[in-house]
Amino acid sequence: MDRAADIHAMELPRAVIVGERLGPVIAERVRATAGSRALMLTSPTPYKLLGKKVEEAAEKISFDVVILDSSSSVNEWLDSLANNIRAGYGAIIGIGGGRVLDVAKVVAETFNLPLFSIPTVASHDGIASPMTSIRKEGHAYSRKSVMPTEIIADMEVIKLAPMRYTISGCGDLVAKYSAVRDWWLGHRETGEYYGRYAAHLAYLSSVVVMRSAEIIGKGEADGIRTVVEALISAGVAMGIAGSSRPCSGSEHLIAHALEYLLDSPPLHGERCGIATIFTSYLHNANWRRVKQALKTMHAPSTLKELGIDEDVFTEAVKLAPNLRKERYTILHKLNLKDEEIRNILNDIGIS
Ligand SMILES: [Zn+2]
Repeated sequence: MDRAADIHAMELPRAVIVGERLGPVIAERVRATAGSRALMLTSPTPYKLLGKKVEEAAEKISFDVVILDSSSSVNEWLDSLANNIRAGYGAIIGIGGGRVLDVAKVVAETFNLPLFSIPTVASHDGIASPMTSIRKEGHAYSRKSVMPTEIIADMEVIKLAPMRYTISGCGDLVAKYSAVRDWWLGHRETGEYYGRYAAHLAYLSSVVVMRSAEIIGKGEADGIRTVVEALISAGVAMGIAGSSRPCSGSEHLIAHALEYLLDSPPLHGERCGIATIFTSYLHNANWRRVKQALKTMHAPSTLKELGIDEDVFTEAVKLAPNLRKERYTILHKLNLKDEEIRNILNDIGIS
């Protein structure tokens, strides 16, 4: 018997800190890990709102700051950093949104350094996961990178982000409602590994956010904090599972297919949210609950609100299972045809 096959490694963050006015806390925690030098990767607004405060609060540690501009792609950033990175850093610190944190993860992985993930928006679960999303030849794909060593969420800064981003984070969270069902299905039909604990943790993050739809919709501080904590919890579920499996199933495949088909796609979580209504129906789960929760939190709950044509969505549903053939989902099982997809869209009223 191959004993190695029985070994399952979990990667967890060493610390998760959620609070306000955390500039000095971040500076001190980075110093304790990094020693005298660290590389800060950020972008203009996050630097102004938080990065600068971390620098000002820093004693006995100097930060080399690289401000990544928004017009460059993640790959361009990585290329430019590869030429500029000098040795001697004790840690990488990423302060910003999804793209900054993606780059920070890959840099930390490449140089084998501790990573501080400091999100300034709560738009998806990458803030606390070991997954990184990289664009290649125009397509986004995600792969396993490194789990952040510490995750520090400054709510004072996250609260300033446009509500659309936080609501997109909610779409990425309700997605777990269908993703864990796909995982269980894959386990049953293909015998793949299934982690009960990781699945329940991811599922919980979808349920919590649906139960909190009202306070999230009102933009209450408590609601936004719940979204941030649920996103971190979903990221940790991926660390426990060792893959994105508990958090990304058929609904994510549709969301990725939409990105592939559209010139200017809506946000990741917005696409995931709407796709989750559809895939929950396929799973015979409570799709009405998903739809109602999205509505209550003022997230897009129809294709029209997202400017997506019904034909494009139909195309995306058909394309989705081909994007990741090895990740078995309800879409692989059902292999839906045009007419079936249209009938379902009619039934669930999301057109
Ligand atoms: Zn996602």
